[in-house]
Amino acid sequence: MVRVRFAPSPTGGLHLGSARTALFNWLFARGQGGKVVLRIEDTDPARSGREHEESILLDLRWLGLDWDEGPDVGGPYAPYRQSERGEIYRLHASRLLEAGKAYPCYCTPQELEESKRRALAEGRTPVYNGACRDLTPREKEEREAEGRRPALRFRVPEGEVAFQDLLHGYVRFPPGTFGDFIIMRSDGSAGFNFSVVVDDAAMGITHVIRGEDHLTNTARHILLFDALGYEPPRYLHHSLLLGPDGAKMSKRHGATTVREYREAGYLPAALANYLALLSWSPPAGKEVLGLQELVALFDIGDLSASPAVFDRDRLEWLNGKHLRSMDKEKLIALAQDFAPAWARHPRFPLMLESVLDNLTKLGDLERYLGPYGDPVPPSEAAAEWLHGEAARRILEKALGLMESMPMESLDGCREVVSSLKHAFMEKDLKAREILMPLRVALTGRDKGPALPYLLFVLGREECVARLRAALGDG
Ligand code: GLU
Repeated sequence: MVRVRFAPSPTGGLHLGSARTALFNWLFARGQGGKVVLRIEDTDPARSGREHEESILLDLRWLGLDWDEGPDVGGPYAPYRQSERGEIYRLHASRLLEAGKAYPCYCTPQELEESKRRALAEGRTPVYNGACRDLTPREKEEREAEGRRPALRFRVPEGEVAFQDLLHGYVRFPPGTFGDFIIMRSDGSAGFNFSVVVDDAAMGITHVIRGEDHLTNTARHILLFDALGYEPPRYLHHSLLLGPDGAKMSKRHGATTVREYREAGYLPAALANYLALLSWSPPAGKEVLGLQELVALFDIGDLSASPAVFDRDRLEWLNGKHLRSMDKEKLIALAQDFAPAWARHPRFPLMLESVLDNLTKLGDLERYLGPYGDPVPPSEAAAEWLHGEAARRILEKALGLMESMPMESLDGCREVVSSLKHAFMEKDLKAREILMPLRVALTGRDKGPALPYLLFVLGREECVARLRAALGDG
């Protein structure tokens, strides 16, 4: 049975790139009827925090992803936080030590730094220089006597490392790509590469899907699996998420965490849809897809290896599509959270409907509904629409229509607007030239929701008062 894992390091919120990795794993596992494991990789106590873990779980759930095993739901391979699995790592490390596949390293950070500096100065790859590789028992004792506490290093075997990647095919690393690396730090905690391998083996992970920035780590992992006598999982290294300038997506490209997109009013289904489309093309004509549709259509074998360049416009476009196809009751409830100033207005659903065609994210909603509020002093460009004899006649006519026609329904208001249009179209005015003066007179703005909605929500009395004020006889 397929078993995948999300393995976030809780050092910050859920990054879009990590969300994309989690999504690929989830889509693959759910499509295969497999299991999803959530493992918290918090071996770096200085950078990890429980608050980050909580925020990551919250955002994964918000995206619609779920997991079968994890720190919050338990499971047969608990614990699921690496900080609670120290004993398992120590046991595995002592196995490697006893077999001579690992050795204690007494080098101090200063010594390592110095050796790295020298390698760089001489144009060599700064790999571990092997100073402690073949210490005699006596040399070890001397270092112990100096009070040095050793780290454990993996003795990297000679030769190239190669593995089959599900996306990149056969990947090879020539000898010397990396040196002996640390599997247990001198404080007794497990190194990143070691804990990942021990856990992937112990948790029966069958497929590891992660970013291609882990390719070299995977070479180390393959060696560790082999040294421990475990079968490695299958690997797929997907492309990285890049900003529009081609650099790895980061803060300077704007919002990078799922939380920021949630707070800006993006829908989880749209964000998941967008992240999936970044490296994968659905069948023609099927771009707007919910999570379950993605599960049905997504095939890990169709992932593209080209870089995934973040395109906010496309995300906004997709979000607009999802907003418009969402269940109306749910949309209204969610929209109320984003427009607290209007949430209790009795006509809120209609107001929302009036801007929905143009809306791309709920974070813009309050601004879009602005024209329903108090009129603003018109900008110079907007004020232009109020100048001249034609404008005056249009407003006078509108006033007359509003005073004589029913305005108690949206349809009634549509009639008022179309009567106004018809009265002036014959005089060779374009629709825009007829309606703009009315819009500006009512709201002070030259943009906003369709006029019948404005008329209906503002109501006859308010509309009449505003028109009179604009005509200067209020
Ligand atoms: N914890 C790692 C990260 O957040 C992922 C490690 C892995 O997928 O093997 O980058």
